[in-house]
Amino acid sequence: METVACPDCDLLQNIPELAPGGKARCPRCGHTVATRPRDPLDRPLALTVAAAIVFIIANTTPLMGLSAVGRHASTTLGNGAYEMWVQGQEVTAAVVAFCAVIAPGGYILFLLTVLLAVRRPPAPRWVGAMLRGAHSMQPWSMNEVMLLGILVALIKIAELATVEPGIGMYAVGGLVVLFAAMMVTFDPREVWKRVEWAHREAAGR
Ligand SMILES: [Zn+2]
Repeated sequence: METVACPDCDLLQNIPELAPGGKARCPRCGHTVATRPRDPLDRPLALTVAAAIVFIIANTTPLMGLSAVGRHASTTLGNGAYEMWVQGQEVTAAVVAFCAVIAPGGYILFLLTVLLAVRRPPAPRWVGAMLRGAHSMQPWSMNEVMLLGILVALIKIAELATVEPGIGMYAVGGLVVLFAAMMVTFDPREVWKRVEWAHREAAGR
């Protein structure tokens, strides 16, 4: 039994152990107060591994290629930020590098470590700190904003030069979808529960 307050009407209620894939609704207002995903750890782990692979592809392959008057140029994500820095746009370069490379990379890394560490109980104590790290990275990871920015730039440049979207661009698009899927399937409460048990066991010893 777990006592929770309804996020909608504040009614306190005891939630019994739910069946996998089950949901509990508030008896007063019908708001969903608890859910138990069918597969709370394996599915997010599979998605996070996929995201890690796609993230590496997004950062190592060209985002787009440009051809104008017989010259061809292409750039990767990190290289784009570096070029911005060299050309005197230090602040923009730092923001791009943080929101497009460091934050998503950190989120994937933290979440991957957490999901692998809790597979074999008892969960180590540092898992809680890692999970907090993942949470603090999540709002800063702005793949979708970056994708929109690149698409706008692509359309603008297309008037001046021949532009070919590179593999990196499709990878960034894939990353946007994978991040959304990770956030939907991952339930941090499942991890917290395991960390709690580990702490109680350690305290009882
Ligand atoms: Zn309610």
